[in-house]
Amino acid sequence: MRAVVKKAPGFDQMEYTDIPEPAAERDLVKIRIAYSGICGTDIHAYKGTYPSTKTPVVLGHEFSGLVTAVGPEVKNVKVGDRVTSETTFATCGVCPSCLTKDYNLCGNRRGIGTQVNGSMAEYVISREESVHLLPANVSMLAAALTEPLACGVHAAIEKADTGRGDVVCVFGAGAIGQMVAQVCGARGATVIVAGVAADSQRLALAKASGAARVVNQSAEDIDAIIKEMTAAGGVDIAFECSGAVAAANKALGVVRRQGKVIQMGVFPRSEALIATDLILHREIAYIGSRSQKPSSWRTALQLMADGTVDPARIVSNIFPLTDWREAFEQIARGEGIKNVIHCGEDIQ
Ligand SMILES: [Zn+2]
Ligand SMILES: [Zn+2]
Repeated sequence: MRAVVKKAPGFDQMEYTDIPEPAAERDLVKIRIAYSGICGTDIHAYKGTYPSTKTPVVLGHEFSGLVTAVGPEVKNVKVGDRVTSETTFATCGVCPSCLTKDYNLCGNRRGIGTQVNGSMAEYVISREESVHLLPANVSMLAAALTEPLACGVHAAIEKADTGRGDVVCVFGAGAIGQMVAQVCGARGATVIVAGVAADSQRLALAKASGAARVVNQSAEDIDAIIKEMTAAGGVDIAFECSGAVAAANKALGVVRRQGKVIQMGVFPRSEALIATDLILHREIAYIGSRSQKPSSWRTALQLMADGTVDPARIVSNIFPLTDWREAFEQIARGEGIKNVIHCGEDIQ
């Protein structure tokens, strides 16, 4: 089958090539890929800046498709089902995180598209436990973005418990920031999305997707805007989705006393200078939110089925698998938010 393979560590080292088709053994489900989204992680792998990618590997972990074969131990998934899948391919199964299905925290987790072959190909295999059936009204294109939406659900609902009446501020207007903003909106919160001058298109999309206010921090005074929009002396919850240390400190600065700051962005260095005096003296809960877990996927698919969020709104361009390189390079150049590869062009 045709696949986009990251061959070795370092910059590029990628090839569009033929590899053997995977087989659906044991509890595995074989999926013919419809769409595969390009994630920031894939761009890091392309640039050679994501150390966890085990090479050679087929990239891609945001996908939808049709089941074409199931292993002998598969019980609830059948050939012809429209599906998406969690990125968890294998876990240790015995650690405290596995026992509570917090698979995002299992130290021995292996992920699709990073440690085992992913979805930028004609087929992928996933374990039955990770596979989710698509509600009938959820499109293949939207379903391919269940993973980033589930990251937003994990942060906005499972970590922050965002609810009606909350005023939230999302720092970073990329794919994850957009997903967090949409989920917070679906929960009834008033949403502010903050970016910089280079984010003008992203901020416009956030506004069109329901944000009450978008802020270009290069030109506008976010402190004054938030003061005007909140009675409690700050927002209830701030989400740091940009990976900029300055944004994290800004988030700590605009949240009210006893508010929450949810850290999702990955900083350039593992140690950063964070305003711990604000955390201490204002009793701010500074909470990490790492990727997603099974419960986040169920909620994400429910939100899509209800029509309260639509992750397909963030799609910038769709490319055939043959044009994978241009799809990657556009995003690497900072153009667009989410490019998607239409691997199975006959599957809509
Ligand atoms: Zn992703
Ligand atoms: Zn485990």
